Amino acid sequence: MTDPIATLFIDGQWTASSSGATRTVFCPADQSEVGVVSEATAEDVERAILAARRAFDSRVWADTPAAERGDFLLRVADALQERKAEFARAEALDTGKRLVEAEGDMDDITACFRYFGKIADQTPGRLVDAGDPSVISRVVKEPIGVCGMITPWNFPLLQASWKIAPALAAGNSFVIKPAELTPHTTILILDVLDRLGLPAGVANLVLGDGGVVGAPLSSHPEIDLVSFTGGLVTGRKIAEAAAHGVKKVALELGGKNPNVVFADADYEAALDNALNAGFLDSGLVCSAGTRLIVQDTIAEKFVDELVARAEDIVMGGPLDEKAETGPLVSKEHRDKVTDYVQRGIAAGARLRTGGHWGGPEHEQGFFYAPTVLDQCTAENPAVVEEGFGPVITVETFSTEEEAIAIANDTEYGLAGAVWTSDSGVANRVSRRLRHGTIWINDYHPYLPQAEWGGFKMSGVGRELGPTGLEEYTESKHIYENTEPAVSGWFPRK
Ligand code: NAD
Repeated sequence: MTDPIATLFIDGQWTASSSGATRTVFCPADQSEVGVVSEATAEDVERAILAARRAFDSRVWADTPAAERGDFLLRVADALQERKAEFARAEALDTGKRLVEAEGDMDDITACFRYFGKIADQTPGRLVDAGDPSVISRVVKEPIGVCGMITPWNFPLLQASWKIAPALAAGNSFVIKPAELTPHTTILILDVLDRLGLPAGVANLVLGDGGVVGAPLSSHPEIDLVSFTGGLVTGRKIAEAAAHGVKKVALELGGKNPNVVFADADYEAALDNALNAGFLDSGLVCSAGTRLIVQDTIAEKFVDELVARAEDIVMGGPLDEKAETGPLVSKEHRDKVTDYVQRGIAAGARLRTGGHWGGPEHEQGFFYAPTVLDQCTAENPAVVEEGFGPVITVETFSTEEEAIAIANDTEYGLAGAVWTSDSGVANRVSRRLRHGTIWINDYHPYLPQAEWGGFKMSGVGRELGPTGLEEYTESKHIYENTEPAVSGWFPRK
């Protein structure tokens, strides 16, 4: 990769946009220029999809033994650790998140490649008893084909790795489009795949606008599966476009995640993690615990202390060592969060802290102060909608039944937590919450070995875990009669 503007990767070649168009990427913490990248055209996307199709049909990767594909992913993991500083810096500058958080993301990304590297050859299919000793019946797992991947800006490479690693483990080809605001680490990972010798056309990268560059990845006839992580509105469009071609669809969408605190919980841990749940990475986490649902007997004290602690959080740019959280990703996004909070207040929520853009030192960036809204009702738009910012709404409950009802009262179902020292309560509540991940006395950890995804409008399908690999395969039944015989249905006359 010599020319910085040749940042599309199509059919094994770094290439500029066919129109010559470029896009400048800015750091949201101070609007400094991060880099200039190619802006693909519809024609470039067409070339990328056809390259992926040719590579798949050639079987060059699909027929590489699964154990070798796994070894390749382990080498990717090693390369990611070797280049961790470079990747983390690129991620931090694109997103504005703190460098230490981006470094943590790199470890998670490496773990994802290692996990899928290790299980790549663990899908041998199964023998089926056909009830006839002369028949060999087996179900095999095959790669699904050409995968379209569309990713968001909050965890750009992490979300990409949850798709790239299982897709390659299963033997597919792909075309990926990262969010237009945060392309650099996806460019870097394609560089890693290329340097490690992935055959040309197996991995392709297009950059640019969702409507122009992303849309064909859900509608093109040569795409077999589209895997999308992003917002609900875009997810619907993608599902509709894919439905026309009856494509397999995997959607990881938003969340409106309940963090339920019972009065008997470990108070300090619950308080500390309520901050972490809502304000980590400025709340730009699909599973952020933005709905604090706290038992009424402790609510007043708990919320007072949450507010005091939120006011102490230091905002700053990626390389500011004093910073504890970063900015939002863009001006447009901050406008959305500002509007969301104002509508919440207009609907009766009480602003306890935040609701502003920080001090004079934050003026160059798109910061939004950690915000707590209490006295929220179930209908308040701040409780109903995914704000996707550092905003915690507070609701209270008195009984276990009430806590469950409030926590499930959302069209989303991605994640949630329950805090209690009563293991019976923890077990009952965790079983009844209709969300894809439940934490008991913790918030945020996830494991590459465990499935991730949403109930209800939080998505379709699962990433990570064995199911995350299976999403990238088709099942095929092969029925072999080892003793062919005349069936006699239509006798010779
Ligand atoms: P977004 O939906 O605006 O954009 C996501 C991607 O879709 C971008 O690459 C964008 O360019 C592309 N896109 C936009 N319009 C498109 C179209 N018509 N066709 C194809 N692609 C199109 O989402 P965002 O604002 O970048 O990300 C934030 C959202 O992502 C939040 O709702 C968050 O909850 C969600 N998210 C979910 C998870 C999860 O695991 N469930 C993880 C991270 C983020």
